[in-house]
Amino acid sequence: MGFAGILGHERAVALLRLALRADRMAHAYLFLGPPGVGKRRVATALAQAANCLRPLPDGDACGACAACRKVTAGVHPDVLLVTPEEGAVRIEQVRALREEVARRPYEGRRRFALVDPAEALTEQAQNALLKTLEEPAGPTTFVLLARQVGGLLPTVVSRCQGVTFGPVPETLIARHLTAGGIAADRAAALAALARGSVGDALALAGGAVLENRDALLGRLFPALEQGPAACVELADEIAREREGLGEALDLLLTWCRDLLVTAVLGHPGLAANRDRADALAAAAARLPAKGLSEAVAAVAAAREALEGYANPRLTCEALLFTLRDLLVPAAGGDGHGSRREGQFRRPGA
Ligand SMILES: [Zn+2]
Repeated sequence: MGFAGILGHERAVALLRLALRADRMAHAYLFLGPPGVGKRRVATALAQAANCLRPLPDGDACGACAACRKVTAGVHPDVLLVTPEEGAVRIEQVRALREEVARRPYEGRRRFALVDPAEALTEQAQNALLKTLEEPAGPTTFVLLARQVGGLLPTVVSRCQGVTFGPVPETLIARHLTAGGIAADRAAALAALARGSVGDALALAGGAVLENRDALLGRLFPALEQGPAACVELADEIAREREGLGEALDLLLTWCRDLLVTAVLGHPGLAANRDRADALAAAAARLPAKGLSEAVAAVAAAREALEGYANPRLTCEALLFTLRDLLVPAAGGDGHGSRREGQFRRPGA
């Protein structure tokens, strides 16, 4: 823990270190950036450094004292983490937080209240929080963690000091995975697929995502070419794997996006699946670019539908038929979606 273990985010960390050293900590920070890049880690490192009993000469936390160990374990009484309950952070949670921060810190020098993700705050809860942000009581720092400012009241945003977090560079993620004992080529492939999210990279590293990807792609394109019966069979199989369904569609989405980027640029240099550069280049060369961009949209739409209440089997079947239409010229589609335009024509029309 501590700032020393943070991957990337040099500017954000430098800014927070400066505030710590000068003892000019903002009353409220808004950490903005994509999920999984390490916002909560940085917030925790800040809370740790501010409360460490034996801080290092550069102001970072020692990582070993009682206070540091409590922060790491999530049991420090002055470092509070507020997360959604049943999908939202409600006004009751903010009221409880306000009571808590009205008191002196129990054992630390400064109390920290992390709200993650801040977009989960209901409007009522944000209004309640606003009062606390307007009337700071005692040595408390709020850290709101959010993907973007949309969904937050402008009045809340304006009372926070914004700190922006970008994606973590792939090379850093790959090095981190390698240090954890993962072979270099596998680490590079996982880092590319994680698209700047350390959290995603670690989650991917714990599974068999590359093997699952290869198994899925090894069957998908032959099934699309074989015909409707093979498509239904594969779609039903994918849909039955409830646990792996989201991952399968994520993999498919990334693969289609890679094919499109490769087709447009003429090389797979910017693809996430760069470990399969040869396969990408070969497939992109024979697939129609227009069909690929529609394929990306179709997979994204199916992914989104499944996050709602869409029927997995029907969604997967419809998706595979659409992909067959778009990507297999012999299926009757010319790769320009022309066949789909007639898809809903009335019989006899
Ligand atoms: Zn310490």
